[in-house]
Amino acid sequence: MKVYILVDSEGQACITREKGPDRAYGTFQAEYNRRRATEEAAAAVAGAQKAGASDILVHDAGFVRNHTPVGLTLYYDELPRGIRIAMGGSPIKAVAAEGFDAAFLIGHHAMA
Ligand SMILES: [Zn+2]
Repeated sequence: MKVYILVDSEGQACITREKGPDRAYGTFQAEYNRRRATEEAAAAVAGAQKAGASDILVHDAGFVRNHTPVGLTLYYDELPRGIRIAMGGSPIKAVAAEGFDAAFLIGHHAMA
């Protein structure tokens, strides 16, 4: 089973402000956001592996405003081994063309 995990950076648990986290809570919020994004991505990978996924692509497409550029939100060395990683934006058609059996959307804009 081939699984695609797309990680954005506004919808992680306890992230309460999308824009300008540095203005709301300083670098603490930005760091907290990155930690949550990494841990939630790792949990998604673990779930996919437990379900039998043999090919997992984690795509870091988020950013933390004023702290990280697009695609450098996750702490890659803290993700499980044996996965593929993509950084930055990617047209959804290119992703779909690769062909996945399942897709997880982590940290997305829940209100939208
Ligand atoms: Zn976003």
